[in-house]
Amino acid sequence: MPDYILADAILNMFIPGHFQYSMLMAIIIFWDPSAPEGLAGPVSRRISSITGEETTYCESPVTLNGYVGHRRQYDAALILDTLATYVRRNGINEPILLVVGKDLFINGHDCVFGLARPQSRVGVVSGARLGNEYYNRQREDEDLIDRVARECTHELGHILGLSHCTDHECIMYNPHTLDDLDGKKNEFCQHCRDKLGL
Ligand SMILES: [Zn+2]
Ligand SMILES: [Zn+2]
Repeated sequence: MPDYILADAILNMFIPGHFQYSMLMAIIIFWDPSAPEGLAGPVSRRISSITGEETTYCESPVTLNGYVGHRRQYDAALILDTLATYVRRNGINEPILLVVGKDLFINGHDCVFGLARPQSRVGVVSGARLGNEYYNRQREDEDLIDRVARECTHELGHILGLSHCTDHECIMYNPHTLDDLDGKKNEFCQHCRDKLGL
């Protein structure tokens, strides 16, 4: 497998004039049945330790859509459409991150780790390419937990209004390889922290 991967993208990045960068009451993780089994708790705790915010999780109530047969992948933008509708109908105000085990793509890119839509305060993260075994390395749950948590926190950063950061160790850096992702620290750099008011 090639080591090159596109990290993610931001849909409809729109910051209203009154927008305030801020961390919020709680973060909710929707864990899809296809996501790595048994890791929802550890991932949520890691996100909580990175952000300092309460993080809860539950089995995802949203049915995955957007499967494109000839690519054997799911269209991340379509998944976020469904998720945004669910959030709106249920009056959910907290940011929602959906974790799936399916491989994702967006138009114009072969694959993505995740996608965020700040306007709807939703994001999706795929664990499909975050496990060591995908790169013919020894399976290690700890690595997978770390990467899924980093990607979730990265998408959360977009939801809260952050763009990509040039600091290679910052959560908001846009990684292009697995090694890039592993080179990040489990924290926002000072510049991003300042924006978030942390
Ligand atoms: Zn990003
Ligand atoms: Zn940063």
